[in-house]
Amino acid sequence: MESLHRFSLRLLPISLAEKCSKPTTRLPISRLTRLYAPKSEFMNPYPHFTTRKSLSSSSIARAGWFRGMGQNKKTILPDIVKAGDPVLHEPAREVDPEEIGSERIQKIIDDMVKAMRMAPGVGLAAPQIGIPLRIIVLEDTAEYIGYAPKDEIKAQDRRPFDLLVIVNPKIKKKSNKTAFFFEGCLSVDGFRAIVERHLDVEVVGLNRDGQPIKVDASGWQARILQHECDHLEGTLYVDQMVPRTFRTVENLDLPLAEGCPKPGSR
Ligand SMILES: [Zn+2]
Repeated sequence: MESLHRFSLRLLPISLAEKCSKPTTRLPISRLTRLYAPKSEFMNPYPHFTTRKSLSSSSIARAGWFRGMGQNKKTILPDIVKAGDPVLHEPAREVDPEEIGSERIQKIIDDMVKAMRMAPGVGLAAPQIGIPLRIIVLEDTAEYIGYAPKDEIKAQDRRPFDLLVIVNPKIKKKSNKTAFFFEGCLSVDGFRAIVERHLDVEVVGLNRDGQPIKVDASGWQARILQHECDHLEGTLYVDQMVPRTFRTVENLDLPLAEGCPKPGSR
């Protein structure tokens, strides 16, 4: 899921912007300047960075699957797969617990974390890098949150949490309370829509060491978990958004259509 504030990347301090943007290689200054262009804040600043450009994302997803994600494991990061790619619209399959410790699964997890941080985003599901497996990663930092308005942070009940890696997550709601807020997705970048989500959820699964974990989450973290678990079912937020709330990031603050629920908890 995207780090929600629309200018988060543009407003990142140069040190962090550079960290987010070039963890593995140095790029021309002309590319770096794109970080500060108002319309590129949620775009991958390096669209030509990976090997995927000349092939469809599906074929790359398959190729990445068989190749072990990239020709050069040290320098190539996976692209984030965009809406329309079949891998985003089909259920992912469970990871064999025996396999979690393997080099292949550990590399997938590492790649997911890197791709999420580079975007930057607050959550990512394996299908978003073309891998049809039930793995999600998420984290929200005080720094990301610091770029959002205080009243918005409060309304969303958004608090920082450390990196979570969950393999084979199973999610269930813990209360009937829900909230309506705009959310975005790294696979549908540049857009937002209001989605109703449960306010309190519990997720059980395995961590990257194959040990059982349980996460009790509320507020924004619960939203991120629901968004990422939806990816594993082949569901994007646009598949369950409130109709007529879909809009570009630039139009985020324009009035809602009549009858649309106002953002907030219920
Ligand atoms: Zn998403």
